[in-house]
Amino acid sequence: MANKSAIITGASRGIGRGISLELATIGYDLVVNYAGNKQAAEKTVEDCQEAAQLAGHSITALAVKADVGQAEERDHLVEAARIQFGRLDLLVNNAGITSIGRADILKAKEENFDQLMSVNLKGPFFLTQQAANWMIELTKQGIVESPKVVTISSVSAYTVSVNRADYCMAKAALGMMTKLYAVRLAEHGIRVYEICPGIIASDMTAPVQTKYDKLIAEGLTPIPRWGQPHDIGKTIKAIALDYLPFSTGEVINVDGGFHLRTL
Ligand code: NAP
Repeated sequence: MANKSAIITGASRGIGRGISLELATIGYDLVVNYAGNKQAAEKTVEDCQEAAQLAGHSITALAVKADVGQAEERDHLVEAARIQFGRLDLLVNNAGITSIGRADILKAKEENFDQLMSVNLKGPFFLTQQAANWMIELTKQGIVESPKVVTISSVSAYTVSVNRADYCMAKAALGMMTKLYAVRLAEHGIRVYEICPGIIASDMTAPVQTKYDKLIAEGLTPIPRWGQPHDIGKTIKAIALDYLPFSTGEVINVDGGFHLRTL
C-alpha cells in the first residue's frame, strides 16, 4: 500500500520540523516546505527519514522551497507533491512570521502589515483552497479516504499584544478560516482543524526567552514549562491517525493550559 502524504509549510525549523518528525514515525511521505534555509530543510528531511526507519517505515521526504505568500510558489509546492506522491492526505499550514519590527499599534507600518498578512493569512487561505480542490478529486477517485487540513494559529488569536497587532489579527482570522473550510469541506469528507499553540521553544521565541522563562516561573501556564515542537507534532499525529473522526472545525489548544482563566 502507498504511504499517505503530507505537505507541511515552514518545516525546516521549529514547530514545522517537530510536526514532520512525528508524521515520519507513522509512515507519512513528506513535503518539507521552507522559505530560504535550505540547509535546515535538508537536515529535517534527513532526520525524518531516520525517524521513519527507526519506527519501521520507509518514507520519502523532500525539501521544497516556496514562499507561501506567493501564488506561483504555492503552485510549485502543490505540484511537487502531485509529481512526487500523486496524493495529498494532510495539509499543515504552519509557516508564519512574527510581527516585523514589533511596532506599537500607533506606529505600525503598512508595508510590514501587508508582508505579514501575505505569509500568515493569505498564504494559508489560498493554499488550503488549492489543496482542498485536489483532495476533493482524490477522494472521488478513491485515492485518499479521509484527508485533513490543520492550521497552526496561536494564543495570540485571542490574547492582546499591542506591539504585534498584525500577528494577532492574522491568527484570529485563521480561526474563522478553519470554521469556514470545515463547513464547506465536510460534505467531501475533509476534516479541518485549528491548533492553537502556547509558548513553544523555537527560533521565533528565542529572542524573548528570558521574558517567557520569568512568566512561566511566575505561573503563566498551569503546566509550568515551555512547549516543544513535538508537543504540536504529537497532536497532529493524533489527527493524522484519525483519532478525532467526528470532529471538524475544532480548536485544539496545545498551550499547557494558558487559555484557562483562574480566580
Ligand atoms: P520559526 O522557528 O521562526 O520557523 C518558521 C518556519 O517557517 C521556518 O521553517 C521558515 O523557513 C518558515 N517560513 C517563514 N516564512 C515562510 C514563507 N513565507 N513561506 C514558507 N515558509 C516560511 O517559527 P515557529 O516558532 O516554528 O512557528 C511556526 C508557526 O507556529 C508559525 O505560524 C507561528 O506563528 C506559530 N506559533 C508559534 C509559537 C511559538 O511559541 N513558537 C506559538 C504560537 C504559534 P526558513 O527556515 O526557510 O526560514
